[in-house]
Amino acid sequence: VINGRKWWSSGAPDPRCKLLIVMGKTDPANPDRHRQQSMILVPRDAPGVKVVRWLPVFGYDDAPHGHAELLFENVEVPHSSILLGEGRGFEIAQGRLGPGRIHHCMRAIGQAEVALEKMCRRVQARVAFGKPLAEQTVTMERIAEARIGIEQARLLVLKAADMMDRVGNKAALAEIAMIKVAAPNMLCRVLDFAIQAHGGAGMTDDFGLAYAYAAARAMRIFDGPDEVHRNQIARIELRKQRLNSQPSTAGEAAE
Ligand SMILES: Cc1cc2nc3c(=O)[nH]c(=O)nc-3n(C[C@H](O)[C@H](O)[C@H](O)COP(=O)(O)OP(=O)(O)OC[C@H]3O[C@@H](n4cnc5c(N)ncnc54)[C@H](O)[C@@H]3O)c2cc1C
Repeated sequence: VINGRKWWSSGAPDPRCKLLIVMGKTDPANPDRHRQQSMILVPRDAPGVKVVRWLPVFGYDDAPHGHAELLFENVEVPHSSILLGEGRGFEIAQGRLGPGRIHHCMRAIGQAEVALEKMCRRVQARVAFGKPLAEQTVTMERIAEARIGIEQARLLVLKAADMMDRVGNKAALAEIAMIKVAAPNMLCRVLDFAIQAHGGAGMTDDFGLAYAYAAARAMRIFDGPDEVHRNQIARIELRKQRLNSQPSTAGEAAE
């Protein structure tokens, strides 16, 4: 019997959605905090499942996919609907999140390429104060910065993907966290340059930049906010130094 409320259930309001994968605490007292959760399949039309409302992203409804606030009121499902077994929800989530995150980052690289392309076209076509915007050094600087950022992010995505293929998601934990911070931040910056170069036109829906920015900004929050990933990167880095605890300077040795 499921009772609860879940914000930001992406895809749930879509009429094509027939099945929900619900993660919830089934054993909150378990001393192993990674065994407290289970994942359960719930038919979207099960009695007691209610879409409270659509959640907009900066005003965009993302229809038909959408994001919902869901309410579960005494929703009954058979025990056999538990995926993999009771207490294994966290394990399943961890398995999915690595590939899911790198997928978002790959999309971010593609979106940044599109934004830069639109920016380059616009600044060559638009003349303001007697010359094309492309001839303003600030524009050239931003184009260069955008290209540098895209290539940096692309290489880090490649490194993370290569590690996932060769040594597995767990060993690639730091690289996945790094790219989940780097790629969405890079995309936000490139889109910001592109919007600025389009002037008022960048604010409209005519060039798709405003919508792209809304989606990119959300990427810095969903699948874990930047801060959470940075904390993880820092913890891994600190742990590395603890393991290699040979003092590297006389000062450290004295400590
Ligand atoms: C567009 C969109 C789609 C989403 N889709 C889904 C979905 O399909 N399924 C799903 O389950 N969830 C989904 N989410 C939810 C998303 O995963 C959460 O919003 C996200 O994990 C942040 O959790 P929160 O909103 O509760 O923020 P909070 O936990 O309240 O955090 C708020 C802020 O506090 C700071 N913060 C939080 N924790 C730490 C920390 N440990 N250290 C330092 N600072 C911290 C960060 O700045 C963070 O942004 C979606 C969210 C959005 C915006």
